[in-house]
Amino acid sequence: MAINESGDDVFRRMGWRSRLREAWHVLFGKQQSSGGAVSAAAANRGALGRPRTLLIEQLIAGLPGPAIVLDRDGRVIAFNKGATAIAPALHRGEPALVSLRMPELVTAIRRAGRRREPQRVEFFERVPLDRWFEAFIRPVRLSDGDGGSVDILLMTFNDLTPLRRVEEMRADFIANASHELRTPLAALLGFIETLQGPARDDTAARARFLGIMQVQATRMARLIDDLLSLSRIELNEHLQPSMTVELAPFVRQVVDGLQMLARDRQVEIKVSMPEEALTVLGERDELIRALENLVENALKYGAAGKRIDVTLARGQTRGGHAEARLAVRDYGPGIAPEHLPRLTERFYRVDVSDSRAQGGTGLGLALVKHVLNRHGGKLSIESTPGAGAAFTMHLPLSTTGVGATEDSLINIIA
Ligand code: ADP
Repeated sequence: MAINESGDDVFRRMGWRSRLREAWHVLFGKQQSSGGAVSAAAANRGALGRPRTLLIEQLIAGLPGPAIVLDRDGRVIAFNKGATAIAPALHRGEPALVSLRMPELVTAIRRAGRRREPQRVEFFERVPLDRWFEAFIRPVRLSDGDGGSVDILLMTFNDLTPLRRVEEMRADFIANASHELRTPLAALLGFIETLQGPARDDTAARARFLGIMQVQATRMARLIDDLLSLSRIELNEHLQPSMTVELAPFVRQVVDGLQMLARDRQVEIKVSMPEEALTVLGERDELIRALENLVENALKYGAAGKRIDVTLARGQTRGGHAEARLAVRDYGPGIAPEHLPRLTERFYRVDVSDSRAQGGTGLGLALVKHVLNRHGGKLSIESTPGAGAAFTMHLPLSTTGVGATEDSLINIIA
């Protein structure tokens, strides 16, 4: 920062008046008269006039983002509420340098003041949270209508943090997906080389290696399949499903399809359904995929509990709307509370090697979350470590008569 050029220690030892003068000097490269900061500020405020200052304050208060207005010497004339989030120490009449301590910003203000040219600058704040901003600094000439004019600097800010976070997430996602694919691919290449070389004539080794290669290739195929499903669901997330799906038959279909896996794991699946029919507006294939993921997870990670309960019931949202609750509860080891908020992140696993050993991709719960988002629902997770976990899909119930049933669609197509 420019202040460092004159030495922080020297700066700290100075009185506040000298500090301001020094800061001013650093910012605008000119020495003030003996009257110093305060008298010059008063002169400038006079030049702008109270009514115009008030008008500026009212105008920038109406802007959606942070805004600060400086006089030609870099002193704060006005700022809105948003600006205090960026610079809590802002004070009217004080040099901007005192409260805006980001070096890039100070340089841009100085440049805009000297050259009378608009400036754009990006800066990063670490405290209290990591945040990125872009600032636009525009010199504005306010005419007083009598041939006179006053120069001010208008600073507006955009919070780039959400954009940067999305960029980071995308980069992380690509890195994670590549890493997940590279591991089985490296294993495949290694075995191919071995089969072409040292194990060329070893029939027993060939059979064993081909078995391992099949497992690795299946893992890659599953990962690509999950990635494609996730991107398809995300692409359609803004489109509300229009088909009606009656939940009980669909739950039975999913559970029946997983009975073989349940027998393998020696787990019993108990299904409990209400008397009444519960219907939602939904995309049947997506809902099947989501429920399959939850039951498969319960079978994979909660098998030790020997039992899984799949329960369908009517419930109510906090806002009083009717919803279907489809819960999958297991009695396995459960999940420690610190993992719960992150479980639906892509590639997040409590135990990576356990997930891989179970054939997991780390994308299952992300998929469930996106399916529920698309259906206007949500996923809730409860777990008591040592006593199991319950994953509940909350889906808004459809009001009768809305949407087409799958049968009616088939009739229309036929
Ligand atoms: P994966 O493909 O690894 O199963 P998921 O997104 O479906 O990915 O699940 C993420 C992680 O959540 C799993 O790796 C596992 O650690 C944990 N998990 C999911 N369901 C359960 C469960 N019923 N009991 C314990 N842990 C679970």
